[in-house]
Amino acid sequence: MNGRVESAFATSLWHAAGVIAVAMLLGLLVGGLAWWLFAATALLLAHTLRQLRRYGFWLQSNSRQVDVDDNTLWAALYRIPVQRQRRELARRRRLIQLLRTFRTTAAALPDATVVLDDGGAILWFNAAATRLLGLSYPQDLGGHFSNLVRSPRVTRWLQNGDWSESLVDVPAPTDDALRLGLRIIPYAQGRRLLVARDTSKLMQLEQVRRDFVANVSHELRTPLTVVHGYLDLIEPEQAPELEPILAELRTQSRRMTQIVEDLLTLSRLEAQDSLPEERVTMSTVLQTLRREAEALSLGRHVISVSRHTDIDLRGSPKELHSAFSNLVSNAVRYTPAGGRIEISWELHDGLAVFRVSDTGQGIAPSHLPRITERFYRVSSSRSRDTGGTGLGLSIVKHVLQLHQARLTIESEVGVGSTFACHFGSERHYAATAHEEIG
Ligand code: ADP
Repeated sequence: MNGRVESAFATSLWHAAGVIAVAMLLGLLVGGLAWWLFAATALLLAHTLRQLRRYGFWLQSNSRQVDVDDNTLWAALYRIPVQRQRRELARRRRLIQLLRTFRTTAAALPDATVVLDDGGAILWFNAAATRLLGLSYPQDLGGHFSNLVRSPRVTRWLQNGDWSESLVDVPAPTDDALRLGLRIIPYAQGRRLLVARDTSKLMQLEQVRRDFVANVSHELRTPLTVVHGYLDLIEPEQAPELEPILAELRTQSRRMTQIVEDLLTLSRLEAQDSLPEERVTMSTVLQTLRREAEALSLGRHVISVSRHTDIDLRGSPKELHSAFSNLVSNAVRYTPAGGRIEISWELHDGLAVFRVSDTGQGIAPSHLPRITERFYRVSSSRSRDTGGTGLGLSIVKHVLQLHQARLTIESEVGVGSTFACHFGSERHYAATAHEEIG
């Protein structure tokens, strides 16, 4: 481009020099050189001004038609915006093509995809959003997502602002039999992508798994009770030589019964969305836990129980006791003789916290993310030796989930562990008495 302007400028300069030269020649031949030169300069100026005026009008008209001699400076100047416009047009065409491809791809996605602004208004959605979420085009564009997909759970989740976890098992507004999993991905300033996936099949499979575990556990219960009953009927004096075998059989059948009971507890917890709620008097709970811990420890540990807040809980006494009891039993089972176990109930940053700390063997950080999974054990032999089923922490996690509470675990190998259950204020009951136990 620069080269063209350069050469066109040179041509124009030669034209101007030619006009001046002719004027000089005429001035020398005819006389009145100054006048001839003045006339030539005026001519060149008039021509330039005329071209400038045309150029201005042409720019204003946005026309792409160029009507000037090809190798002049003006032709080069005309060509610059024309070429720029052409390039801009080609870029725009490419962009439109890209946008079309993106839209057809997004429209073909089986998952409902909705673009929201930071206020939750709908900016765009694909065809699957109509099928799964019942959004209609174009009426629902600009509408608020929570107003169109009416579900208190979805609204709460959208307002919550923490979208690291998906929202699962949401009934589809278009069909109650469909179950959706929702995800939000913030992807640009003030823009969020909401993706809803049909998880009905997955949910059905999950249900089949739950039913299977519940049924198997239930079916195992009766034969186990029979085996257990007969084993208890055999007196040691009847067959002294079989006593070690009978003792082992009794231990194993007790362990199996415990596994079955824990599996049934888990199935029951999984099948529920909420639990019946009543006041859980924490002073009584702590006293019971102390008795249980002492019975399990048989004097091998120093056990202390303290209550620093008089808050009681709103929830299921049976399930909460089962969760707390699992934590206490773990602390006793995984702490060598002579260790300390501290059970406390306190208020911390507005949350009521049930804490069990021990000076036991601790858990390596690599195990912590999976520790609440069913049958996950750091050491199977140690768990078996101490009568564990590998289901205790799973039960704790489920019970806490049903109480919208959180479990935190801090642990250091060889130093000890602290398991804490944090309950939000919606679960608090202010009690009247304040006492310190042990
Ligand atoms: P288990 O019945 O095997 O104790 P849990 O689900 O209660 O199963 O615990 C899972 C695993 O977590 C245990 O096998 C044990 O390795 C580890 N664990 C749980 N509590 C403690 C604790 N207080 N100290 C050390 N390890 C623990």
